[in-house]
Amino acid sequence: MKQHIETLAVQAGYTPENGGPRVLPLYQSTTFKYDTCAELAEIFDLDANKYMYTRLANPTNDAFENKIAAMEGGVGAMATSSGMAAFLITVLNIMKTGDSLLAASTIYGGTFTLCSTTLKDLGIEVIFFDPDDTEENILALAKDNTKAIFGETIGNPAVNVLDFDKFASIAKKLDIPFIVDNTFATPVLCRPLELGADIVIHSTTKYIDGHASCVGGIIVDKGTFNWKNGKFPGFTEPDESYHGLVFSEKFGEFGFLMKARYQVMRNIGSTPSPFNSYLANLGAETMHLRMERHCENALKIAEYLKNHPMAEDVHYPGLPGDKYYELAQKYLPKGASGVITFGVKGGREASSTFIDNLKLAALVTHVADTRTCVLQPASTTHRQLSDEELISAGVSPQLIRLSVGIENYEDIIADFEQAFEAVKNAKK
Ligand SMILES: *Cc1c(COP(=O)(O)O)cnc(C)c1O
Repeated sequence: MKQHIETLAVQAGYTPENGGPRVLPLYQSTTFKYDTCAELAEIFDLDANKYMYTRLANPTNDAFENKIAAMEGGVGAMATSSGMAAFLITVLNIMKTGDSLLAASTIYGGTFTLCSTTLKDLGIEVIFFDPDDTEENILALAKDNTKAIFGETIGNPAVNVLDFDKFASIAKKLDIPFIVDNTFATPVLCRPLELGADIVIHSTTKYIDGHASCVGGIIVDKGTFNWKNGKFPGFTEPDESYHGLVFSEKFGEFGFLMKARYQVMRNIGSTPSPFNSYLANLGAETMHLRMERHCENALKIAEYLKNHPMAEDVHYPGLPGDKYYELAQKYLPKGASGVITFGVKGGREASSTFIDNLKLAALVTHVADTRTCVLQPASTTHRQLSDEELISAGVSPQLIRLSVGIENYEDIIADFEQAFEAVKNAKK
């Protein structure tokens, strides 16, 4: 029986055996013991689906992976040590030197910088485009060596909403996978694999853990992309490090994830610690409840800011009249998540004064957890970007990224009121 997302959040991923622990155990062990050399050799040949070493797989990591895979509707998932690692491993699993990736220019600053520096140094070209541009114009940027298209369900921090139909159509026409970073939406609010995406990635650091306790990432694969279309030799040619194994042949719909784990993760080693997976899994069990409150609070606070004489440029895709309201209604019908951007009238300095005077909302390099927090991207996460890149990422110098928590919204508004007062008094 197909279960609802709320039930999957609570129950999926771990099923106790008779007499076994009710709660997912923490297997804080690097390795696993076997009786014979023959047994272990079989595992090393990828002929037996068993544990050998935690860099590759671990039961606690596995359970967390299975929960998120169930929630996203994928065939499986692989957890990583961070959201950055989830993106990098996805790219390296598909591409190599001489290939190119089409990516929305509004993606998270850290991912943008990874593309424009490390991937560039590796000879993988990232072709940035305005995600609001027409399908025709975006298609025109593709090259023969283009191997994937990438965007975020809700952009960090521009809070723009991805046009799934357009991206899926471009991917189909180019016969390349459509990769979505679903960090801000979570599978509770949006399930990209049902909207034409092939691969979903997350920084689980954000709403999935939800409590700002551990950095992590995850890759979920739908298992239906045809890697044998001639563009992806890594899936169809023998891997000599496994005696000539061919990933798409041997593993079918699990080819992408098996290659990601037993080739890229094996070689790179950005594995999550089982303890972090334990924490992220525990957080994920209440994701559906938290997201409901994040959305509710964010809408109320976006309305408050919209009507505030000292606030400007309020962006929240759940707010009627917002540039992305229609797309949000279409793709995020349950709510537009908890992130709002706005400016304080008076430019960068007024914004800084406002932030410095907040008492409940904290200034932190984080977003998307239970506690309300703020950040000025231009002076922090997006500091490495040029002015031009800032503008194309949708970031103005005075922009405040507000991550609305699950406190009582009246207390958040009271905090904002006193901070606006402080800005007013500072001007006198
Ligand atoms: C934070 C974030 C990342 C990077 O994740 P880390 O866990 O910090 O490595 C990637 N994408 C988005 C949308 C993010 O918000």
